[in-house]
Amino acid sequence: MIHKTYQEQLQTWDKQYLWHPFTQMQDYGKETPFIIEEGSGVFLRDIDGKEYIDGISSMWCNIHGHRKKEIDDAIKEQLDKIAHATLLGPSNIPAIELAKKLVEVAPPGLRKVFYSDNGSTANEVALKMAFQYWQHKGYREKTQFVALQYGYHGDTIGTMGVGGIDIYHKVFRPLYFKTHFAPAPYCYRCPLGKQQKDCLLACLKELEKILKENSDHIAAMIMEPLVQGAGGIIIHPKGYLSGARALCKKYHVLFILDEVLTGFGRTGKMFACLHEDVVPDIMALSKGINGGYMPLAATLATEEIYNAFLGEYSELKTFFHGHTYTGNPLGCAAALASLELFEKEHILENLVPKINHLRAKLKRFELLEHVGDARQCGLIAAIELVRDKSTKEPYPWEERVGIQVCLEARKHGLLIRPLGHIIVIMPPLSINADELSRMIDILYESVQIATNE
Ligand SMILES: *Cc1c(COP(=O)(O)O)cnc(C)c1O
Repeated sequence: MIHKTYQEQLQTWDKQYLWHPFTQMQDYGKETPFIIEEGSGVFLRDIDGKEYIDGISSMWCNIHGHRKKEIDDAIKEQLDKIAHATLLGPSNIPAIELAKKLVEVAPPGLRKVFYSDNGSTANEVALKMAFQYWQHKGYREKTQFVALQYGYHGDTIGTMGVGGIDIYHKVFRPLYFKTHFAPAPYCYRCPLGKQQKDCLLACLKELEKILKENSDHIAAMIMEPLVQGAGGIIIHPKGYLSGARALCKKYHVLFILDEVLTGFGRTGKMFACLHEDVVPDIMALSKGINGGYMPLAATLATEEIYNAFLGEYSELKTFFHGHTYTGNPLGCAAALASLELFEKEHILENLVPKINHLRAKLKRFELLEHVGDARQCGLIAAIELVRDKSTKEPYPWEERVGIQVCLEARKHGLLIRPLGHIIVIMPPLSINADELSRMIDILYESVQIATNE
């Protein structure tokens, strides 16, 4: 805990010097900054010494809890050797060991690992690889992409170009390359007006139309498998993923999976694509890759993609991409420790009862007057608030009902962050049954209070 006068000093400096991501700073200036000082397990502690459950895994990346001894130790041990060394030319030990390990745990066929620093760059790399692959193969016209409405792949220009969230992405439209958007399989608000029980995945037909008409010009489809995160925790019906994969194969279009959020156990399996036995051509990983400790990302590719970049030096088939901190040894050492924990602590096996417990606890929400939908995939869940349950009329986003729920939850010791009127629940995988119950009970009460029931 920090001395009171220094607390105030920090709060002043925060407002004075910092520009926060995805934050309207005019509103921020009116609030008292909430400053985190420490963490342990699933708990965070602010500069006042007050404790909160980390209900969003520190922006969807924490896996084993905070200050996990094995990861702390791995970083300290690596720090005694070297903090950073470049991969542009030389190699480094943790980067080599991690690449081998990632290929071992990845879906079969993904055999090459290209590092970067964050989810956006992992996807940016994937898009560039897919594009350049076709250039090398002689299909020069394949310059466009397919993506899903409500998709989110990052905040760089390229990844925004394949992003389908209007409030974030629309303003930059003039800067993007051509992308075709297929309807998202968002069953609660089916874009085709179908009922899930007899829809026969009509949304796949829409995707097929796009592919059929434009396949000569399309390099790749990119999508988040099973769960579209930032677009509102949209959970796909069974069969969509494998259907999309099959269509891409049929129409000669590369299939990129953005597993930045879903990777490393969130959905109950190591990667979401394993639920439907799908292997993409390219897969982007980041958030949970080292337990949520430091910036690291990887883009995995098949041998087929990789081989298309081989050639004489003078042919200029090289993949001209790389970042200063590519393959950072500290980040890779942390990732190796995290993957070891998956084995040693049987993380995936131990998730099964937690996932069931979460499912049981979510049931209660469906009875609330302003809860339109409570959905779940693995240890990811969302509560969609609606003004009118019978018509599914949403709360206007300006009303900030989600923020009200989260502020209420914070008063009771739970840190969460909404996506508009959708409340996201994404605890570290290490959360235990009691903590999970407490988290959901706080949330239940907060929803009741904020929606005035
Ligand atoms: C968070 C996220 C990204 C972007 O990752 P950053 O590390 O924030 O750049 C990309 N795709 C998905 C699915 C994500 O959830």
